Amino acid sequence: MNAVQEIHRFFPRRALPLLAGVFFFLCSPGSPAETVTQEETDFTAPFPVIARLGQVPDWSALDAYQGTITREEFTYLLNHCYARRPEDAADCIRIQTDRALILKQSNFPERGWYDLRFRTEDDLSTDGPRFWRRPTEIDDLPANSTKPLEGLRIAIDPGHIGGKWVTWDDRHFLLGKDTIPVKEGEMTLIVARLLERDLSLLGATVYLTRESNNPTTSERVETLQEEARAYLTRRGQIPSPGLIASTAKAMFAISSEIRSRGVILNESIRPDLALCLHFDASPWGGKPAFRSPNHLHLLINGCYSRGEIAEDDTRFEMTLRILQRIYYEELALSDVVSKTMQKETRLPAFHYDGKSGMSVNDNELVWARNLLANRVFSCPVLFFEPFCMNHRETHLRVQEGPYEGLREINGIYRKNIYQEYADGVTSGLIRYYRKKR
Ligand SMILES: [Zn+2]
Repeated sequence: MNAVQEIHRFFPRRALPLLAGVFFFLCSPGSPAETVTQEETDFTAPFPVIARLGQVPDWSALDAYQGTITREEFTYLLNHCYARRPEDAADCIRIQTDRALILKQSNFPERGWYDLRFRTEDDLSTDGPRFWRRPTEIDDLPANSTKPLEGLRIAIDPGHIGGKWVTWDDRHFLLGKDTIPVKEGEMTLIVARLLERDLSLLGATVYLTRESNNPTTSERVETLQEEARAYLTRRGQIPSPGLIASTAKAMFAISSEIRSRGVILNESIRPDLALCLHFDASPWGGKPAFRSPNHLHLLINGCYSRGEIAEDDTRFEMTLRILQRIYYEELALSDVVSKTMQKETRLPAFHYDGKSGMSVNDNELVWARNLLANRVFSCPVLFFEPFCMNHRETHLRVQEGPYEGLREINGIYRKNIYQEYADGVTSGLIRYYRKKR
C-alpha cells in the first residue's frame, strides 16, 4: 500500500454509548500499536469532532510528507488561503521554529499533537506523495499539436443528482405555468457529456464520477436515520424527528454522495485535475422566484472557519492539501479558465462577503471556499458556479434546451446554455495547457 492509498484508508470507528451523550472510541486492530495503547486507556475521551459522515483521520498518513515543506511556505498557505483568519487555525495548529504541531483530537488534547517537521534550507527539495501531475510533469507538446490536452487525465464531476432523486436534493424548481422544471443535477450531466466529447477530441482521457441521474452512493435516507441521530446528539442538538429527517436527507444527497464520488476519484480515476460542474442559484425564500443579477464565479479550496478547522478529519484534509501544494495549480488554472468562462457567458462576477468565501488574488471571479468536494478530491479542483438558475434569462435558456447552432436570446445570437458553459471551460483549458506544457 503506498502512502496515498494509506491516506484514504481511514480507521473504521466503533462508538459505544457509556453515559448519556458520552462515547469512547476504539481503533481498528490494524492501527499503530502506540495509538491503540493510548486510545484503549482513554476511557474518558469524548467522541471526536468529525464532519458529517467523515472518519477519524490516521495522522501517521502524513509521515510521508515529513521535511517536504518549509516553515515559510506552510505558514503562507495556511494564512493566505486556508484559514479564514490566521487566529482561526491557532487553537489546533501551532507553528514552531522547525515544525508545526497539529492537534490530533480537538476536543481531547490528551490525545497529543502530530509533529510535522519543516524542510530546512539544507534539505533537498522533495515532494510528498500525490497522484496528480503538474503540467510540467506531463510530456511536452509538439509546437503545432492539435491535441493540447494529450496525456492529461481529467475527472468531470456533474454536481448533484437527477431524475427521481431530485426531490432529495433541493436543487430543482418549477417557475411559471407550463414550463420545464429546472434541475441542476440533470443540467450538469448535459454539460459533462459535452465536455467529455470535446476534451477527449483534444487528447485528454476523461472520466465522469457519475454516468447517469442516479446517485453513486449505496446509502439512502432510510439507511442514514441512526447515523443522523448520533451526529445530532454528538453536536449537542436535540434529535427531533424533523431534524433527524433533514439531517439524513443532507447526509444522503450531499455528504454520502460526494464522499462516494471522492472514493471513485481518489482510488480509481486518480486524475490530474477535477472539474466540478454546478449552476448557481440565488436564495428565494419560501416560494421559487426570479432574482437578479445573473452571475459567475469559480471556487478554489480554502477559507476554513474556526469550527471547520476544529473538525479532526477536516483539519487533516486541509493539511494534506497544503502539503501537496494544490493551491498553486488550482489557482493558476482557475485564473485562466474563469476569464474564458466570462468571455463565453458574458456574466458579471459574483461577490462573497468574506465569510463563507474569500478572495485570494486580484481576480474578482475566483474565490476560496471550503466545500466537501473541493476538500476531499485529492487533486486540483476547478469548481464552477456560472449562471444563476433562477435568473430570468437563465430560466429562458433552460426552456430553449440544447438546440443546434445559434438562437436569439434577448437580442443576442447565442449557443445553447450547455454548449456555452462547456466552451468556456474547454477554451480555458486549451489556453492554460498550451502555455504551461
Ligand atoms: Zn450545485
